[in-house]
Amino acid sequence: MSQEAFENAVKTMIESVGEDTKREGLEKTPSRVFKAYQFMYGGYKLDAKEILSQALFETSNDEMVVIKDIEFYSTCEHHLLPIIGHVHVAYIPDGKVVGLSKIPRVVDVFARRMQIQEQLTEQIADAVLSTIKPKGVAVVVQARHMCMEMRGVEKVNSKTTTSALRGLFKTNDSTRKEFFSHINSSSGNRF
Ligand SMILES: [Zn+2]
Repeated sequence: MSQEAFENAVKTMIESVGEDTKREGLEKTPSRVFKAYQFMYGGYKLDAKEILSQALFETSNDEMVVIKDIEFYSTCEHHLLPIIGHVHVAYIPDGKVVGLSKIPRVVDVFARRMQIQEQLTEQIADAVLSTIKPKGVAVVVQARHMCMEMRGVEKVNSKTTTSALRGLFKTNDSTRKEFFSHINSSSGNRF
């Protein structure tokens, strides 16, 4: 789709609420929205498995690796309004670990798409599982949904929590408990 067609669509949206697309403050808005969309939806052009595969290292360590409080910004696929929250990712290596900076990048790959929180959670877990091939993966996402808050449908500040547990995190109680005690020690976060 061309930038011109995109900008015309934005103009139509602006006019439909009764605004004047020619006034100074709005004149460049269609091209700004185009650039914002390229960034916000840049995840479609990225491959999570490729990012993870580039930074795999052999290890004999089989202790739980936990990356907590990864901030993310996404948009819901129903209203294209922001979803803002945190992701916690844990895995238990089975011969391989990944460079720690790659996990937040993988979160962005899926957050920068039109999403529902449940799918975002699963996609992160499955990318880690299929690439690092660990003994288990756990992903917890806690987020605020602007489509609930801005439209006044639900209580302001309510948070939605979703989780995806694979391997040992699903089958082993003590592994799961260890993970939740790690993420519950986050300041102010309780699950
Ligand atoms: Zn929504």
